[in-house]
Amino acid sequence: MRIVLVGPPGAGKGTQAVRLAEKLAVPHISTGDLFRANISQQTELGKLAKSYMDAGNLVPDEVTIAMAKDRMEQPDAANGFLLDGFPRNVSQAEALDELLRTEGITLDAVLDLEVPEDEVVKRIAGRRICRKDSSHVFHVTYNAPKQEGVCDVCGGELYQRDDDREETVRTRLEVYHTQTEPIIDYYKAQGLVVTISSLGPVAEITERALEALKREKAENK
Ligand code: ADP
Ligand code: AMP
Repeated sequence: MRIVLVGPPGAGKGTQAVRLAEKLAVPHISTGDLFRANISQQTELGKLAKSYMDAGNLVPDEVTIAMAKDRMEQPDAANGFLLDGFPRNVSQAEALDELLRTEGITLDAVLDLEVPEDEVVKRIAGRRICRKDSSHVFHVTYNAPKQEGVCDVCGGELYQRDDDREETVRTRLEVYHTQTEPIIDYYKAQGLVVTISSLGPVAEITERALEALKREKAENK
């Protein structure tokens, strides 16, 4: 399956993507995680991305699209993928469509995670991620690690993302509304959008997502 996850920062895309990717046996491709890996490896791309990320802005399309394309062309993504955080504006969505067209493949669904803004703010404020692998995500109260400050998955150190500070979060939410939300209409026009609530226990949301994707698949047959 080829799925795009959308939703505001803090909606739970990464949290759900890890679980859905396992259930659907496709790789989880997060452009945010790819940028953070580049930052920790101190690559040129990482240095460039960090300046935009710390300000809460989008990294320029040219480098983002090239990075996402490169990842999608890896052998493990040949039979499907779950995109998390990409595309994030209409030009990236158009670039993705173009890439899929040249490969002769299509998206199966765009899963839109809905969460009220006050909940998103609480989720972001308590988010802690792993220094070794930023796809290992926790929350100080909602999804606390067994040992404070230590990743349950790999023992790495947990820390608060620089861009999860309150001032930056405001910019990121604004960027979401002005630049990312329009892709929902873009994909609605293609009949691909499946909207679910991302409120409630993590496992319940995963079930809700799988059910919604199954229904979408049955309807499109
Ligand atoms: P996104 O990838 O959309 O930015 P994350 O998956 O990183 O969001 O989740 C943001 C924060 O909210 C994390 O700290 C995560 O542990 C927490 N979280 C995720 N899903 C839920 C949920 N259903 N209920 C409460 N907290 C959640
Ligand atoms: P995320 O981990 O998805 O919350 O992304 C963190 C940050 O990485 C964003 O605020 C952007 O600065 C950058 N980023 C991630 N994905 C993209 C993308 N598709 N386009 C541009 N910037 C991105």
